[in-house]
Amino acid sequence: MNVDASHDSCQACQDSEATHLCEDCGAVLCLDCLESITTEYYFCTNCHRNLGDIRSNQKPERCPDCDSDQIGVGRKIVEICPRCHSTRLILVEDRRRELAQELRKAILSLQYGHLKLREFVRHFTSARQLLVSLRMAKFLHYKWLEDQLETIQEEIPALKNRIVSQAEIVAKQMAAETKGLMDYPSWTADQFPFITGVTNRITELGERYKLHVDETLQSVRARLDELRGHINGLDYYRREFAGFYRHSELEVNELPVCAFPRVRVTGSNFLKHDKATGTLYITNRRFIFIAKTGTLRKRTEVIFDFPLLYLSGIEEDGRFRKHLVLKLKQGDIKLSCSEQTQRVLPDYVEIAKRFDRYVQTDLQRVRRLEQHDVSATDARMRIDEMVYSLLSRDRHVSPSERAPRRIARTGWSRPAIERSPTMTAGNHDRFRTELEGILQRNDGWGIGPRIGASNTETSSLRQTAQNIENEIRDTIHLLRTGRIVPEDFVRRYRGLMRDSFEIRRRMEYYGDCRMEW
Ligand SMILES: [Zn+2]
Ligand SMILES: [Zn+2]
Ligand SMILES: [Zn+2]
Repeated sequence: MNVDASHDSCQACQDSEATHLCEDCGAVLCLDCLESITTEYYFCTNCHRNLGDIRSNQKPERCPDCDSDQIGVGRKIVEICPRCHSTRLILVEDRRRELAQELRKAILSLQYGHLKLREFVRHFTSARQLLVSLRMAKFLHYKWLEDQLETIQEEIPALKNRIVSQAEIVAKQMAAETKGLMDYPSWTADQFPFITGVTNRITELGERYKLHVDETLQSVRARLDELRGHINGLDYYRREFAGFYRHSELEVNELPVCAFPRVRVTGSNFLKHDKATGTLYITNRRFIFIAKTGTLRKRTEVIFDFPLLYLSGIEEDGRFRKHLVLKLKQGDIKLSCSEQTQRVLPDYVEIAKRFDRYVQTDLQRVRRLEQHDVSATDARMRIDEMVYSLLSRDRHVSPSERAPRRIARTGWSRPAIERSPTMTAGNHDRFRTELEGILQRNDGWGIGPRIGASNTETSSLRQTAQNIENEIRDTIHLLRTGRIVPEDFVRRYRGLMRDSFEIRRRMEYYGDCRMEW
């Protein structure tokens, strides 16, 4: 038997390379040793649809597809396993590729770490962004919003560290499990069950890692969500205030507090318009009601506009359908509004009267917050590099050494040089030092893999990647300095990220020519 150990030789003739695997008894066989049986089947002579085996079916009258009655009988040769006579034969190569894909997928679960980090950072920056724009629009409520955002922002580096170092631990465990196994074209059929076992363990490591990532982000995520709820609330009032600016304006040092739409004035003992539906605006100085009036020619106008100081109290009135009664020096105004508004309006009036206590006075604070770069890019680079090392292990064979394998796959014997023991061992050692180095390195993460990328193709790709990185930085700068609108930024940024991804893919390809899965 002159066949390389990594090759499956046919279990029947013990000579040729096995290409088929019996899914029932596990035998690996060459094409010549497969037995075959001839089966007869009905088919439509018009559309060639197979209408089932002769043995197990009655002859159909018509074809269900084209309604033709021209039913013929065909014969086909089916290969069966000579050992157990099963027809469930698959190509060894297909199973090998399938197993390789499963193993790869299990390893890729490490990427969950930076995916979740990026998602979190995106939520954080979007909340921060919204707060900045609210502060600019003079919505200065809740000075503690900055405090909490700052606290979360300060935690982000630690979160990244925890997620990356856990990934390192898991990557090491995965490396130990898959040691010497990552050269998937050399897997033999009798290794398949073992590889399935390894894949299961890697999958479990990956699942545990995902849980760890979720746990790491859980509490901070909950806090951010709550914060976001408050910021969204302010954003709602800001949008409602658009109607205010069309008919009135803020005085010096006057700040918007809140706005309640769909409020109805149902009566008053001193107002000219004592029936109208509109929005009640409250600032730290005044309460203003703007509504549509007139039956024929409707127009929107200010119905009343009083200093907050005039408001001496808010009372509930009515037995069935409750109203709010605003008590003023001049008299009463009856309002009907949603239950929600009824519940919160008195509180908001109190807040508005003592708004100074709640206001953020340091507008630079949110600006400073905004200048911090909180991206998860560094974490992504590091985790991707770990994943890449895991996947590209044992795969450092030059294309010239690779060619004979193709020939060998077609059934010829293969030059012995390809998997000599010394070379395999050398590769493993080289990989180990490489992974060790990657895991210990804490700074200077460039784009894309470093492994094996030395020729001109990769260096030009690397240059392109660098250019894209610079352009991304410039684009962010443009947005921060207000020279492009957010829509343009999003469009440009997306395009750049797509390019960056594409380049990284190509670098991976050139970085290791044998990455073919
Ligand atoms: Zn054979
Ligand atoms: Zn069999
Ligand atoms: Zn037919």
